[in-house]
Amino acid sequence: MRYEDLYRRSIEQPEAFWAGEARAIHWHKPPGRILDYAEPPFRAWFAGGETNLCYNAVDRHLAARPDQPALVAISTETGVTRSVTYRELHREVNVFAAALLELGVGRGDRVVIYMPNMVEAAYAMLACARIGAIHSVVFGGFAAHNLALRIDDAQPKLLIAADAGMRAGKVIRYKPLVDEACALARTPPPRVLLVRRGLDPDLAMIPGRDVDYAPLRENYRDAEVPVAWLESNAPSYLLYTSGTTGKPKGVQRDVGGHAVALALSMRTVFDVGPGQVMFSTSDVGWAVGHSYNVYGPLIVGATSLLYEGLPTHPDAGIWWQLCAEYGVRTMFSSPTAIRVLKKQDPAWLKKHDLSQLKWLFLAGEPLDDPTATWISEGLGKPVIDNYWQTETGWPVLCLQPGLDLKPVKFGSPGLPNFGYRLRVINEVTGAEAGADEKGVLVIQPPLPPGCLTTIWGDDARFLKSYFSHFKELLYSSLDWAIRDRDGYFFILGRTDDVINVAGHRLGTREIEEAVSTHPAVAEAAVIGAADEIKGQVPVVFATLRNAAADADAREAAAAGMVERVTAMLGGVARPARVYVVNALPKTRSGKLLRRSLLALTQKTDPGDLSTLDDPNALEEIKRALVRGPEWHA
Ligand code: ATP
Ligand code: MG
Repeated sequence: MRYEDLYRRSIEQPEAFWAGEARAIHWHKPPGRILDYAEPPFRAWFAGGETNLCYNAVDRHLAARPDQPALVAISTETGVTRSVTYRELHREVNVFAAALLELGVGRGDRVVIYMPNMVEAAYAMLACARIGAIHSVVFGGFAAHNLALRIDDAQPKLLIAADAGMRAGKVIRYKPLVDEACALARTPPPRVLLVRRGLDPDLAMIPGRDVDYAPLRENYRDAEVPVAWLESNAPSYLLYTSGTTGKPKGVQRDVGGHAVALALSMRTVFDVGPGQVMFSTSDVGWAVGHSYNVYGPLIVGATSLLYEGLPTHPDAGIWWQLCAEYGVRTMFSSPTAIRVLKKQDPAWLKKHDLSQLKWLFLAGEPLDDPTATWISEGLGKPVIDNYWQTETGWPVLCLQPGLDLKPVKFGSPGLPNFGYRLRVINEVTGAEAGADEKGVLVIQPPLPPGCLTTIWGDDARFLKSYFSHFKELLYSSLDWAIRDRDGYFFILGRTDDVINVAGHRLGTREIEEAVSTHPAVAEAAVIGAADEIKGQVPVVFATLRNAAADADAREAAAAGMVERVTAMLGGVARPARVYVVNALPKTRSGKLLRRSLLALTQKTDPGDLSTLDDPNALEEIKRALVRGPEWHA
């Protein structure tokens, strides 16, 4: 079926459309109503239906594919690879679920999971899903403060942690962070379950609170834990947004809608079915990790690769080597990761047999044209941008290569996904923006299945954060967008990333794009610095592909960037200063933290910097500011 026809059906006859899609998953009790929309914007999809994520991801495949790998966890940090068949996964998840029950975890209880990309993180998630507990995975790279914030919000009965993670060969002990977080938290979890990989021989257990998983696993080797059938709209998990813009929010996901949206998108977007292999490089701590490392691929009976390690270690070809070795069909990564690879020899892209690889999907931040072109040409594969949010749980804008691939337009994440009624609205007047006119991207409710149902414990915040921006009841994405004449959308950045230069509103994203077209540039961040005359002026911070470039080369590159911006966007966008730096401040999920650049530039309060990946990046920016720009007006 053609994309247009199916999309139209999803909008005009949503109940019929979703009733059809719901057949892709197993229901213990079929839904009574496909959509209950009695209290807008809250909505209940598949109301009255009973199902279970773990059953759909694991048990359902036992008959047809018991010996097929379900998960392959590869760690280039520990050097260990673990391939787990559906039969083994079923066993491990039952064992883990029995351990959870022994520790007093039941239906509706929250469980915080603080682990790196190791296979036990998936066992823990699936075990929670099995017994109806609500998991909240906290990215293992977050420090004690972030963990404590999330603990206090979720109030877990149990925290499951690894003894340690590893990054670039260095052991990062988790247990001291867990202890510190528990000390900081107002409501620390009564029990902590530790999954040890032998990375921290000095790990100290706190009697009465800490429990070692190994003996429990031994005890419950043969356990069979019945599946808890849950009403479709019961919470399945909480995931806190990554915090690029402020205090994290506990995005709450349901059970049935989530499963149905994943099953649909695995087929039509990611083009992965039973027995096929998907490799998402995400961490389980992000939305992509939940949807497309764990639940999505397993729900459709595919094989999913989990990767712990750097994209450049042992060499910059490691991801492509894994694609060749496991016959990966679909790969999913982020523009940040590709920019890291872009600093390496492109020959790595050609070294391995990628005949099975069909698609490379990228998401999470704007995909700039030079990065997209570099990787697409280097691999000789189509690169598919897709736009979504932790809140939505699956793509909002994308192409559907599994169904009917429309032409790729570089710079655009594509067309609306099924069930998303998208509009672009003028932020002041609330009027519909015309073709090629900029506005805020909004979703007309009801949000489709798979999207958040609320903010955990705070319906008022849910309404205020997303539905209070316009007179009409609309979900604001808080991102700028335009829709072109062909119906393709372009994302122009976050609504808080717009600068006003002498009365002209400019997206920092557009300027970054222009800067990035300069061949010397690896990555750029643009902020609007206060200016007495113009209100704000663009200031560029850029890293170069050649980090060893000398002062002359850095100055030449900076001048070249300014030329590019002026040529592409005109004099209003002309940067006031360009700083060439060796690192840019990013969140742990790889997103530019522009507000920290702005704060340093203007010597104001940078706010919460706890999600910052590498504090050295801030020092680097401070040094650059003291040293002075490589180019100034
Ligand atoms: P927080 O909401 O806590 O500030 P965050 O928005 O960075 O954090 P995510 O939900 O991971 O957390 O990111 C979603 C955002 O990332 C989108 O709203 C958008 O700004 C950006 N984004 C994601 N994918 C794309 C894409 N393909 N193109 C452009 N921007 C994207
Ligand atoms: Mg966001």
